[in-house]
Amino acid sequence: MRRRVLTATTAALLGLPLAACSAGAPATDPPASAGASAAAPTEHLARAPDHLAAPAARPTPPPGGSGWTARDLPVFPPAPPAEPIDLPKSGSVPYLSRIPTRQRVAFLTIDDGYLKSPEAPRLLAAARVPVTLFLTTDAIRDDEPYFAGLRQYGAVIEAHTITHTALRGRSYAFQRHEICGSADHLGRRFQRRPVLFRPPFGTRDATTLRAAHDCGIKAAFMWKETVHKGKVRYQEGRRVRPGDIILMHFRPAFVQDFLAALRAIHRAGLTPALLEDYVPR
Ligand SMILES: [Zn+2]
Repeated sequence: MRRRVLTATTAALLGLPLAACSAGAPATDPPASAGASAAAPTEHLARAPDHLAAPAARPTPPPGGSGWTARDLPVFPPAPPAEPIDLPKSGSVPYLSRIPTRQRVAFLTIDDGYLKSPEAPRLLAAARVPVTLFLTTDAIRDDEPYFAGLRQYGAVIEAHTITHTALRGRSYAFQRHEICGSADHLGRRFQRRPVLFRPPFGTRDATTLRAAHDCGIKAAFMWKETVHKGKVRYQEGRRVRPGDIILMHFRPAFVQDFLAALRAIHRAGLTPALLEDYVPR
């Protein structure tokens, strides 16, 4: 237990420089230190006695960025141990918009990567929720280190083609090139080859799922909810359901979309979990 607290505290501290830089304060400044505690209440309680010695230096604003503060981030219970799905042995990959589970979890996915929001690293650092990034290699080419940096805050990078072309109806060779080519490139750049795939626009055919399988992909994903301009749109009902996959993009409203997605998950009594944990290795 003690070890867990220390680890979490260390992780919170590692996230500090970004938040501190945004506020113009040096990383060693006491306000920044207490700010990290605000993002992780449990750690704050565990560390409180050490910091009460300098009450005059307590911060007023929690860490945040442009258009948000840590108070905007819902607090979630920990995700339960994952129960991976069964994969078919058919020479094709499953295409899912929801993980079949009764666990109280949902999955946040963020696509493309054309726009590199300066708020995304700060938000992910403060939120500490797992997210899956389906990245198009042409979209991220001009700033791959930006996406590499997001991994330290819980983001896992998966494949979303090279050129973001609709795949349905295209030849096996074309589709295979788009899928394998993007997975190979991401594997080289980020030292982990993707195992999940999302076809652009969610359009696919049987060839897509066969080509994905042949590229070493284990599962392909659509979504149940989309978030755009801070608004969540549901395919079914008005609530995120257990196992739902939520789609947002690296777009100008990144902050509003990210917060809206987390609030919707929280309102449904669910907690964010990592999609990769539900696919057998
Ligand atoms: Zn896309």
